Amino acid sequence: MSEITLQHIFLASKAIKTLVKRTPLMESSRLGQLYLKPELLQPTGSFKIRGAANKISSLSPEEQQRGVCTFSTGNHGLAVSYVAQCLGIPASVCISDHVPESKKSAIRRAGGNLFLCGGGQDQAGEYCRELARTNGLTLIPPFDDPAIIVGQGTIGLEILKELPDADTLLIPLSGGGLLSGIALAAKSIKPAIRIIGISMTCGAAMYESLKAGRPVEVKEEPTWADSLLGGIDLNNQYTFELTRKYMDDIILLSEDEIAGGIRYLIEEHHFVAEGAGAVGVAAILAGKVSTPGKAVAIVSGGNIGSDWVQQILQGKNALANPV
Ligand SMILES: *Cc1c(COP(=O)(O)O)cnc(C)c1O
Repeated sequence: MSEITLQHIFLASKAIKTLVKRTPLMESSRLGQLYLKPELLQPTGSFKIRGAANKISSLSPEEQQRGVCTFSTGNHGLAVSYVAQCLGIPASVCISDHVPESKKSAIRRAGGNLFLCGGGQDQAGEYCRELARTNGLTLIPPFDDPAIIVGQGTIGLEILKELPDADTLLIPLSGGGLLSGIALAAKSIKPAIRIIGISMTCGAAMYESLKAGRPVEVKEEPTWADSLLGGIDLNNQYTFELTRKYMDDIILLSEDEIAGGIRYLIEEHHFVAEGAGAVGVAAILAGKVSTPGKAVAIVSGGNIGSDWVQQILQGKNALANPV
């Protein structure tokens, strides 16, 4: 695929229809003109199923038969395992030590073959590339791939269809697949829409990379937003440039601000979101979004262990134990 266009995103929304839910927009009126896009309601509990479904269904029957592999902070591995299981394809998932137990067991339940690789997300990536080479598997990248980006972009189509006068989109940001896809769809339809990426203060790989003008490595720190950990890939081909092109602002949040977002979603909506899924709401609550207008927060996922939820509801603001 040379250039990614709105047309590719329309095609993706058709391709993923049977596997993926069309999530509703919900008002969160205590915070003004704020809407939530609750992707935590997807099967597998995050939006990652969109990209995975689009990429895996685009493979040839031979490729599907040989199987797929991936590396992941959890939710992508879970989405790949689930989609592969639905389509009767074997899936191997390489993960680092930083992936919480709740996500490991969910991947096993979805039929994924787990490889524990130690270290961080980047080591898991290296291990996975080797596994793909030696076993003839197709690697399903977590973000830096056109089929993944347009799959995630289907969220942007759904939002603009339902709320054509949206002013601001609040998008959790890690590798940038989610932001690139949504921004591409939304700005193609409404060029004036504001795209805001949100990461945690410590270990924000895209933020540090944009500042440096090239992909750089960051140290992974314990965070409630574990799904936002990991680098953007030193050989990044797509999402670095797309994020640079489309993102209007970036907001960084402290751990206690992220915890505040999780608490708000439980108390106001009875949504149990994971840290990464709560950052949009958290940014509004922290007063860090200037003139949001009609804003949509992508509640990107809900895969959080009950132990963390308990700590957060008890008022604990930072994660003490390393993840
Ligand atoms: C993967 C993930 C993100 C970040 O998506 P990127 O495409 O890597 O930027 C945000 N929230 C959740 C819940 C995720 O699983």
